Amino acid sequence: MTFKPTIIKIKPNHKQSANSYFFSYKNKNNMVDAGFFDFEKITETLNDKSWEIHNLFITHWHYDHIAWMEKIIEAHPNITIYIHEEERIFLDKSEYNLSGHFAKNFSLNAKYINNIKTFKTWDIIDWIKIIHTPGHTVWCSCFYIEEHNICLTWDTLFATTHGRTDLVTWNSEAMKKSLANLFELPPETMIYPGHARSEKLCNIKFEF
Ligand SMILES: [Zn+2]
Repeated sequence: MTFKPTIIKIKPNHKQSANSYFFSYKNKNNMVDAGFFDFEKITETLNDKSWEIHNLFITHWHYDHIAWMEKIIEAHPNITIYIHEEERIFLDKSEYNLSGHFAKNFSLNAKYINNIKTFKTWDIIDWIKIIHTPGHTVWCSCFYIEEHNICLTWDTLFATTHGRTDLVTWNSEAMKKSLANLFELPPETMIYPGHARSEKLCNIKFEF
């Protein structure tokens, strides 16, 4: 058993942006998602602690989760960005990645191509398990640290509800199955969602 990682929430500074998280685990510094946040302040804090970010896990391609991705690559050129192989193509498609809602026209700059590594459904990366949770998007993923009952559930499961199923590649039936799978995790599992607060799985109750 390793030390339980402390999951640090990086609060968004845009009302429509998702949470991002930072945690150290098994000698790697990880971020999950890269929404809008106070980039200078976070970079300063990381620099103060001499923390390089090794991995950035992307749950899905909506712009509120990837807005600062390129800035993070620039600040940490050796970083590896992990995204599901089927979600990756949407990084290049501004008509799908909702960047238009933020008055942007985002597609990933080709010079960062070597930083991107795709994973497959049910892969395990540095002891972090991928849980495929279609519904909000078709290849949306949650990241599960099994030995410490920690699950980063993004736009699939929130503390009081589930994610939207009215966007491109959504599927409400798939969402039901994904939620049922997540509720199979141990009840003491701590959930870290893409929006709003964290909660213990056993305290989350809503109809779906
Ligand atoms: Zn989303």
